[in-house]
This record gives sequence, structure tokens and C-alpha cells, in this order.
Amino acid sequence: MQTGFVGLGAMGAHMARNLHRAGLLMGVWNRTAGKAAPLIAQGATLAATPADAIAPGGVAITMLADDAAVENVTLGDNGLATRLGAGGIHVSMSTIAPATAERLARYHADRGSIYVAAPVFGRPDNAQARQLVVCTSGPAAAKEKVRPLLDAVGRAVFDFGEAPGAANVAKLCGNFLIAAAIEAMAEAFAMAEKSGLDRTQVAAMLTKTLFASPVYQRYGEMVAAKRHTPAGFKLPLGLKDVELVLATGGAARVPMPLAGMLRERIIAGLAKGRDEMDWSALALGVLDDAGIK
Ligand code: NAP
Repeated sequence: MQTGFVGLGAMGAHMARNLHRAGLLMGVWNRTAGKAAPLIAQGATLAATPADAIAPGGVAITMLADDAAVENVTLGDNGLATRLGAGGIHVSMSTIAPATAERLARYHADRGSIYVAAPVFGRPDNAQARQLVVCTSGPAAAKEKVRPLLDAVGRAVFDFGEAPGAANVAKLCGNFLIAAAIEAMAEAFAMAEKSGLDRTQVAAMLTKTLFASPVYQRYGEMVAAKRHTPAGFKLPLGLKDVELVLATGGAARVPMPLAGMLRERIIAGLAKGRDEMDWSALALGVLDDAGIK
């Protein structure tokens, strides 16, 4: 299986490195070529275009910022779709809309190639440690074929069937719950602080007992400490995900008032120049409202 990797951002750089170490990588491509330097130093091959990173009938993995980036790199001049051809598989690991996944799956099918959705849970350090949780959907035979690639970047794979966008729906469910947890913790810890308690002590008690789960523990520590840099997942990408949740909920005719509130919260944070912060910085909006410095 000849595999090319496209998108060496905060997540993709680690994932590509793990695939390269496992001897599974043919080439890499990134819009900003300089970001590939560490991988090239380790022996990976830098391609001049997305299409050059892959082989006909091989596998293309994309880990790009958003829907527009995945569509550009797939459908544009020198895009992946021009090279993949019959039997080729596009493993799409970005967080994108289910509707975009469906559109890309149809585009590939018309050309004899196959689309597999494989969005992931986990932050850059989890990616580095091959500890991502991968959600998949798409044709069964293609998913089975690419399974060794997914095992090289993650610790678990959960399958959601053949519908192209199903894995993206599962991913958006998870990110909605994470954002809601950040907001809920920010409100609770603000109440604790303004009532004269040590917010970090409250966070430690709750995340060691009732809320002893990775999301509450990890984000709880950041929210309690008011520490939102360096960013593992930037606030603008958080806005992208909450807007995808709202669009997906709307298409399914599910009102999601909490997602609407989170969208406004994130927009307010971006209006205050918090673009380079982690998306946990949506919690700072709660501090603003509560008059806490
Ligand atoms: P990132 O650090 O911002 O990297 C984004 C990547 O997309 C970079 O390689 C960037 O290229 C590329 N890109 C952006 N726009 C492009 C365009 N128009 N054409 C070509 N390439 C383009 O993002 P990330 O944190 O790695 O996230 C990548 C994806 O994984 C996103 O969908 C995100 O929602 C998802 N995700 C992230 C995390 C996390 O904790 N960070 C966790 C799970 C899932 P340049 O280097 O040239 O800018």
C-alpha cells in the first residue's frame, strides 16, 4: 500500500511521523513546505503537489484545517483525485461536515476511487504518542485495507458503518460535548472563585471523583488555572467545529441552543484577539462576564 500524507499541521506532523516510522509512508505534502523539514530530515519524501505525494491505486491521507482545505487539495489542479484512480483510497481525517464527506465520496466514486472518513479524537500530544481515537465510516473493504494505517496513528478505531458522513457526525457529537464541558466548568469555577474558594482545589476534587474522565481532567486543569496557551487546538478551529455542529443539527432538525451559545462565546473571544489561544479560552468569556480578572 503506497500512502501519501497531506497536511502537516499540529496534528498531521505527528501522525505522518508515526506512519513514516512504521515504514508506511511514500510521500508528504504541506501547503507551507518548510513545515515538512523535520520529517524530511528523518528520511521522508517531500512532494511538490498533493498528487505527487501519492500513487495511482494507493492511499491518500488528509489532515487539513477545514472543509475548504480538504476540497481544494482533493479537487483542485494537482489534487489527490487526479492521481488516485481506480481502487485508490482517500482517508479523510480532518473534522469536516458530514455533507462534505458525502460530496467527496460521490466525487471519488465517479472516478473509481473510494472515500473513507476517519476523523480523530485527541490532541497533538496524543497524536505524537499514537493515542488517537479514530472514528470511521465508508465501504467495508476499504476500511479493512487501511486499518494498519489507522493502527499506526491511534489506540482505538470505532466504526459507524458505510454512510460517508457518519464518522463525522460522531466526531461532532464529541466536540460539542467537549465545548459544553469547558463552558460548564468555567461557570462552576467562576462561582467557586467569587464565593471565596480556591478554584483549582474545586477542580481537583471534582475531576478526581465525580468527573474523573479525560476531558474534564485535561480541560478542567486548563480552565481552573486560566491557562490557554500554548494552543493544542486553536480557538478559530473551535468556531469551525461548533458551526459544523449547528449545521449538522439544523439539517437533522435538532435544535441545539447550547451550541448556539458556544458559538457566540467563541466569536466574542475571537473579537478580543484570542485567535492564537487554545479553544479552552472560550472559558475566558465566562471570566469576562463575571468580572474576574
Ligand atoms: P493546524 O495546525 O491549523 O493545521 C492545519 C493544516 O491544514 C496545515 O497543514 C495547513 O497548512 C493546512 N491548510 C489549511 N488551509 C489550507 C488550504 N486552503 N490548502 C491546503 N492546506 C491548508 O490544524 P490541526 O490542529 O492540525 O487540525 C487539523 C484537523 O484536525 C482539523 O480539521 C481539526 O479540526 C482536526 N483536529 C484537531 C485536533 C487538535 O487538537 N489540534 C484534534 C482532533 C482533530 P499550512 O501549514 O500551510 O498552514
